[in-house]
Amino acid sequence: MPTLTSRAKQVDRRPMSLAEKLYLPAIFKGMAITMIHVFKKKATINYPEQKRPFSPVFRGLHILNRDEEGRERCTACGLCAVACPAEAITMEGAERQPGEEHLYREEKYAAKYEINMLRCIFCGLCEEACPKDAIYLSETFAPSNFNRASFIYGKEELRIPHPKEDPEGYKKALGNRAKK
Ligand code: SF4
Ligand code: SF4
Repeated sequence: MPTLTSRAKQVDRRPMSLAEKLYLPAIFKGMAITMIHVFKKKATINYPEQKRPFSPVFRGLHILNRDEEGRERCTACGLCAVACPAEAITMEGAERQPGEEHLYREEKYAAKYEINMLRCIFCGLCEEACPKDAIYLSETFAPSNFNRASFIYGKEELRIPHPKEDPEGYKKALGNRAKK
């Protein structure tokens, strides 16, 4: 009789023995496999309570950096957007006004800065391209969400906490960079 695949198996139609009818050998075999795995090292962890250590080259969620005074470093030069192979970055530049020196480090700043996390491939080229150390990829995951619009991260989501107002948050966001 022709078969569809070479993996077809002949069904065993012999009458079952008494032990097979009681299912006992199969149950004991299953229990033995379970007991072996109880004492084995677990392959899974209790995420999010437990987390695996990141690789030193892990690239996670972007952070828009500030300097030690808390001023935004980004000058809206656009180099990160040009370097981005996924065209995920958009921005609008603005000129710093007198009295805003404590907010922005240089004369020009990004009034709007957005990254579309659905486009981003976390390649890190934006970080490489930035001459101002204004953007970097942190050790944080991009959180999941239910609608597409929520994946467009603006300045509010990307900006690092203020080093003077929230020193703990600032240090945490810096991660390994704080130790450099
Ligand atoms: S990590 Fe890569 S893909 Fe993502 S925004 Fe930066 S340059 Fe674009
Ligand atoms: S993040 Fe860096 S490269 Fe991108 S616009 Fe700002 S200063 Fe320029």
